[in-house]
Amino acid sequence: MYKMELLYEGKAKKVYATDDPALLIVDYKDDATAFNGVKKGTIRGKGVINNRMSNRLMKRLEASGIPTHFVEELSERETLVKKVSIVPLEVIVRNISAGSFCKRYGVEEGIVFDEPTMEFSYKNDALNDPLICVPHILAMKLATREEIAQIERYALGVNEALREFWSGCGVTLVDFKLEFGRLPDGTIILADEISPDTCRLWDSATGKKLDKDRFRQDLGGVEDAYTEVMRRLTAHDHA
Ligand code: ADP
Ligand code: UDP
Repeated sequence: MYKMELLYEGKAKKVYATDDPALLIVDYKDDATAFNGVKKGTIRGKGVINNRMSNRLMKRLEASGIPTHFVEELSERETLVKKVSIVPLEVIVRNISAGSFCKRYGVEEGIVFDEPTMEFSYKNDALNDPLICVPHILAMKLATREEIAQIERYALGVNEALREFWSGCGVTLVDFKLEFGRLPDGTIILADEISPDTCRLWDSATGKKLDKDRFRQDLGGVEDAYTEVMRRLTAHDHA
């Protein structure tokens, strides 16, 4: 598989064309940003961890019936994926209050919800990824009613599968963000990444944050937290 022209350089990854028009190569960087790019930094070794973690988790999700873009891990930082047209929504699932939920509603972090919640943001950096409701997704023609229903089913399925898996690693899955895309025939699959950049992960025993909040909140030990959560995944994942 040949890596061809750079199609897109984002905040965390570079995306390359390949000699197969249906496939892309994603290259994970160590760059970290928060607050829509206002805070910038480097988390050494992050790209390697996020690449491997995302691939492992997507393989598990495939096994539990959720289709993903994952094709093959090519190197420490590079993965071959199916090219999709991204549905411009950030799909956020929460099990416990944190982050923007606490800020928006003025509540403390750590409230365990009776049921998972789901919300959508319109993926648009210039607008700061605003929260968007289903009627507005339809009005904006970002996705059809059927696609939204499918995305919701998959997102809840991802939550069930990952919550159970992380729990076996002694890690609590607090919340996470997913992106979905359309294959040329219109099929919806899970794309982008699942990593400590896109999930909140807390040590189940101590509550210690093992994710990008350490970077966002200047808590220190960012690299160690990413390494620790990857170590636990590797120790537990015999798939
Ligand atoms: P951002 O665009 O938010 O800065 P990244 O640095 O992670 O994010 O860039 C990766 C880009 O690739 C994102 O825009 C994401 O939506 C897109 N992407 C992820 N998976 C796929 C895929 N399978 N096909 C096409 N685009 C994808
Ligand atoms: N998230 C993400 N990308 C974004 C926004 C959020 O990956 O652009 C993830 C974030 O890491 C967390 C979850 O989505 O796991 C919920 O984030 P929240 O809405 O609380 O926003 P934040 O506190 O990151 O502003």
